[in-house]
Amino acid sequence: MEKSYVAIETLEHCPVCKISVENADNILDSYTEVDGRRYFYTIDICKSCGAIYSVKRSKNQCFYTEQYDAEKEHSHQNDQSAPLISSCIWNVETKKRQVEEIISFLQKPSNTYLEVGSSDGTLFRMVKQRLQGSGQVFSEALLIESSGASNYCSNIEGCQVINQSIMSKNVMLPNNTYDIAVFSHCLEHFEMPRDVIKKIRKSLSDDGLLYIEVPDGMRCDRSLSYPLGYFHVVNYNLLNLSWMIRSEGFEIIDLIQRDHYPGIRLIAKKSCLFSVDEPLKESYFWAKGALNQWLNAVDMVKGKIVKLNIEKQEKKVLLYGCGTHTRALIDALPYLELCDFTDSNPRIKLFNNKPVIPIDMVDFKIYDYVIISSYAYQDDIFKRIVSTGCPFEKIVRLYDTVFSYDQGF
Ligand SMILES: [Zn+2]
Repeated sequence: MEKSYVAIETLEHCPVCKISVENADNILDSYTEVDGRRYFYTIDICKSCGAIYSVKRSKNQCFYTEQYDAEKEHSHQNDQSAPLISSCIWNVETKKRQVEEIISFLQKPSNTYLEVGSSDGTLFRMVKQRLQGSGQVFSEALLIESSGASNYCSNIEGCQVINQSIMSKNVMLPNNTYDIAVFSHCLEHFEMPRDVIKKIRKSLSDDGLLYIEVPDGMRCDRSLSYPLGYFHVVNYNLLNLSWMIRSEGFEIIDLIQRDHYPGIRLIAKKSCLFSVDEPLKESYFWAKGALNQWLNAVDMVKGKIVKLNIEKQEKKVLLYGCGTHTRALIDALPYLELCDFTDSNPRIKLFNNKPVIPIDMVDFKIYDYVIISSYAYQDDIFKRIVSTGCPFEKIVRLYDTVFSYDQGF
């Protein structure tokens, strides 16, 4: 079975506190599938700092090159030569909050801006527009995005775009330049976040600010999907994120948990103190508790499917969604691998070694149940399949409430 996985690498140290991986608790092993290939990863908790991360993981840097553009497939990108339209912006409620926060720290008439993992550049455009509204400008802006989303950034006026990883040796940042460096849902993708922060610190001006938002590792208990899901290498919590940033020569000036698209947002300024205290032991118990809560959530979803009696009564079932959520669902209830699969993404042709039925070829009449295998997109998918003629009573929604994206608090 191992043979079908893309080559697996093992970390030597916790990405957050640098202690040896021998001090990590292994919680589980899993994999995700992209283009029919399996990418293995483990979920571990660092006993020293409570970071949830993958000690072992298949390596594929192709996911962070121009050739790969996962967000496009989820319709998360917009044509940046067109006007900004709020209803078309992905996760717009979080972005609006971020814009107000960023603007509140930019007091000068002319400012310099750096964003790492800028995706299609929407956040930068929103900040720039809002800044102009208060009579200020960006004298310089640099967007760094290694995936194909960078192509959208190049249509934005008034910024430079680098379509390589920030950690590439070719990416040389000017010293002591930027008033603010923004990481919005980006830092969790790095295996060596401290090196990224070190590089950014040098490029910030003396009173420069670091603005970071990452998913909240304490709130992975809403969905059946694995807390890391392969693409995220580290799940942070309030304690270990702020500790790591302080120990890289910053002073935290604001730190919140955001309910909307559950995240942690941290704002820090450059400091000459590099804190040398140990990470708080409580952080490990927090992480452990969050993963236990998540296991309870998995049991609840399992209970909902068991009640359908699919296995005993030989029901014909279609699973809608071929991502990490479905991987987790099949791991929890292996008999579900006998179901048919469909997905709205036409690029996904194979899942679990079975052909994926293109969504427009699905005949809903032949199924007893259509299970929506997604957390965040559950309600969107529900509306879509009802509108394409799937009888309401056949549809199984696994979650009573979905707490993320654009539904506000
Ligand atoms: Zn650690």
